[in-house]
Amino acid sequence: MSLSVEPKDLSSMNTLGLASHADACVVFTDDAQLPDLTRLARTYERTLVLGGGSNVVLAAQVSGLVVCTRTQGVALVGETPDAWLVEAQAGETWHKFVDTCLANGWAGLENLALIPGTVGAAPVQNIGAYGVELDTRIDQVHAWDIQQGESRVFSRDECAFLYRDSFFKRQPPGRWLITRVRFRLAKQWVPQLAYPDLSACRESAAAGRITPRQVFDAVCAIRQSKLPDPAVLGNAGSFFKNPVVDASAWQRLKAGLPDLVGYPQPDGTFKLAAGWLIDRAGWKGRRRGAVGVHDRQALVLVNFGRATSTELLALAQDICADVYARFGVRLEQEPVLVA
Ligand SMILES: Cc1cc2nc3c(=O)[nH]c(=O)nc-3n(C[C@H](O)[C@H](O)[C@H](O)COP(=O)(O)OP(=O)(O)OC[C@H]3O[C@@H](n4cnc5c(N)ncnc54)[C@H](O)[C@@H]3O)c2cc1C
Repeated sequence: MSLSVEPKDLSSMNTLGLASHADACVVFTDDAQLPDLTRLARTYERTLVLGGGSNVVLAAQVSGLVVCTRTQGVALVGETPDAWLVEAQAGETWHKFVDTCLANGWAGLENLALIPGTVGAAPVQNIGAYGVELDTRIDQVHAWDIQQGESRVFSRDECAFLYRDSFFKRQPPGRWLITRVRFRLAKQWVPQLAYPDLSACRESAAAGRITPRQVFDAVCAIRQSKLPDPAVLGNAGSFFKNPVVDASAWQRLKAGLPDLVGYPQPDGTFKLAAGWLIDRAGWKGRRRGAVGVHDRQALVLVNFGRATSTELLALAQDICADVYARFGVRLEQEPVLVA
């Protein structure tokens, strides 16, 4: 099928609901279109790959070519004595994919249930939630080099995953299009229940009766009770990453803030709860025009309607400056800024 370029209102294609427009948008539905996509992309100054729009801050006018990924398909492509090898196309909805895996008896992704967005975007920021990071479940990432017009398979190591980061997130936007992802899911299921909110599941596990589906249901219920639904209130989930500080900074901060929340990391650093810092700085529930800080989750910035990226970014900048002035900790934005 040939590619057709159209102008598009992107306001309903980003979960923040920011008013945004692109002059050139193309929907990519089949890997056979990749060479044509490269030919087309070369006629634009830049390219943006868009999945579900749940981790982007879109400018009012997005320049260049916007590629909307809609390829579909999930398949068991192999197995080893220990693991199922499952592949999903980039345009699959992440949550639906997790559900499909469980329905087929391939457990291991249940802690990542209900994260919005697509399979193709999941490796970009190495999604994580409730004690599981995606990179621990990835076998390979298939990607198309939009500029060079060739495909490449990245091993897990080559993806260079870090906390909410990967090789792909560090590349110029529009260089790589992740076309499909291969997951390695252990046949011997080990529930990941260390996260405090999963205590009810821990009790069931201790009694020897916990299933992946129960963990999936518990994660969905917790997320629905804690996070605003983007369909109701525009947001991009966590707007800031949890900052990582060294041990001496942690001790200095903890001395002045005894109830500061932080988690020791294997390399001796400490990951601070950014939401706690924002809350302590007094931003939780504050509204400024059409944007604000969610009243139950200080880490979540929201669009009350008709906001633009300019208003949202001004609020984010003020929060960062205030947190730095009070605590000496720099916050880093999680969603990708697309101007
Ligand atoms: C309510 C809510 C809760 C959230 N909770 C979490 C959470 O618990 N944990 C977490 O990690 N994240 C969370 N997020 C963030 C977001 O859901 C994830 O980052 C998700 O993977 C983004 O997917 P997407 O398809 O919407 O990507 P988009 O927002 O469309 O794109 C994000 C980035 O990935 C790039 N990209 C998208 N698709 C491709 C592709 N096929 N190839 C190459 N690059 C691509 C884009 O260019 C952009 O740079 C949450 C967001 C919301 C709104």
